[in-house]
Amino acid sequence: MSIEYAARQLPVVVIGAGPVGLAAAAHLAGRRVPSLLLEAGTAAGTAIRNWQHVRLFSSWRDNIDPVAGRLLDAAGWSVPEPGHHPTGAELIEEYLLPLAKLPVLADRIRYGTRVTGITRLGIDRLRGPGRVGAPFVARLADGTEQLARAVVDASGTWDTPNHLGGEGLPAIGEPAAAAHLDFALPDVLGVDRPAHAGRHTVVVGAGHSAATTLLDLIELADQRPGTRITWAVRRVSVDPVFAPGAADALPARGAIGTRLRQLVDAGRITLEAGFVTHRVEQLSDLGPVRLSSRDGRMIVADRVVVATGFRADHRVAAELRLDLDPVLGTSRGLAALLDPGPARGWSAPAPGVDGLRHPEPGYFVVGIKSYGRASAFLMATGYRQVRQIAAELAGATAGGGWSGGGWRGVTHRFRWSPAWRADRPVAVAHSDRVGSR
Ligand SMILES: Cc1cc2nc3c(=O)[nH]c(=O)nc-3n(C[C@H](O)[C@H](O)[C@H](O)COP(=O)(O)OP(=O)(O)OC[C@H]3O[C@@H](n4cnc5c(N)ncnc54)[C@H](O)[C@@H]3O)c2cc1C
Repeated sequence: MSIEYAARQLPVVVIGAGPVGLAAAAHLAGRRVPSLLLEAGTAAGTAIRNWQHVRLFSSWRDNIDPVAGRLLDAAGWSVPEPGHHPTGAELIEEYLLPLAKLPVLADRIRYGTRVTGITRLGIDRLRGPGRVGAPFVARLADGTEQLARAVVDASGTWDTPNHLGGEGLPAIGEPAAAAHLDFALPDVLGVDRPAHAGRHTVVVGAGHSAATTLLDLIELADQRPGTRITWAVRRVSVDPVFAPGAADALPARGAIGTRLRQLVDAGRITLEAGFVTHRVEQLSDLGPVRLSSRDGRMIVADRVVVATGFRADHRVAAELRLDLDPVLGTSRGLAALLDPGPARGWSAPAPGVDGLRHPEPGYFVVGIKSYGRASAFLMATGYRQVRQIAAELAGATAGGGWSGGGWRGVTHRFRWSPAWRADRPVAVAHSDRVGSR
């Protein structure tokens, strides 16, 4: 069996069954490209479960991938009202779970399967010759491996929130104060209510997650007197956070900024601008914590909500050749498109496949992870990303090999193993290499 034939039998591995990973699987299925979706959690939308109580600012019209929607329609799905803004829970129950259960996708999804590393078969990052012809190897948490002809990483950023420390490192004392900290989006009106009702919460951060929590805390304060709210932000002026208000392309998002401004002006939220958290100390066993900044300012509160955003974790691809923008940690092509302003990325177009490329052909980072440290990724952007990537991968299939110098003319041989099937992981793979470092 030739290497080209053997390699083309391998699936495209998609990592993560969030909205973008599922859309990638739908697009690949629509183009008859064999794929396998590996999801660490027990169901689709595992990351979104953590913020299922939050209402999205984009409506169903923008939250459904067109190809996924067509697959669902064909299966008799009842389409949600396009203008409705679902909660995270509704997004999962009414869209992601039905999508993941479609027979065309269900057989191609493996749950409880965490990818811990990706490399090339028989080749580490240093070795050049033949690497683009070699299959990818996805190492799994259970110690088995899955071979792939390409990898689409849609694993999100939920597992790597930014620290409380305003300079990027953990605040001094942050691990020790963990019992007082809530990372983004506690359900302060639901299960997390007892920790915040009638108490003083400081929300740290200036993004959408911080704003959402602040508005929920205001609702809690209306219900429960004695609930106090402080908002600590690094920036000296929060005007850009309030903007663009009514001018926002997504009205529900603009309304959040407008409402926050009113609440700060009315004194219902105490704003601590220019506060760069440096240290956090627990004042007594059950008592409050004290945040301090380098310039000696202090905030004492019962709870701290760390809503400082998320960062992409590229360690899983440490053996691949990535070229990351030094500021945002995105592909360079994407970084060039992201607006450096406060509403960074809101209106960024999805780059073509070229904008998502790394020096490692066949490895693509998509979805919210593709945005690195830039905020304001939209699902609709991810859907455009995976549409383009699926088209490219389908082209590579139809053309008999990966374009970009990949499957054609390889100097690398590997023994075909029946274990390298799309539907099961491999424990052992054999490689006969020709060529050298
Ligand atoms: C509170 C909040 C509100 C938002 N509101 C909107 C909105 O209104 N409109 C909008 O367009 N966008 C919104 N977003 C932004 C974004 O669209 C969502 O975060 C969206 O869920 C991103 O989809 P994703 O598929 O890229 O990643 P995720 O939804 O994060 O999915 C990643 C998946 O990968 C899995 N995974 C992680 N690591 C591994 C691994 N190593 N191996 C296998 N699986 C792994 C996770 O379990 C998860 O299921 C919001 C984000 C947040 C946090």
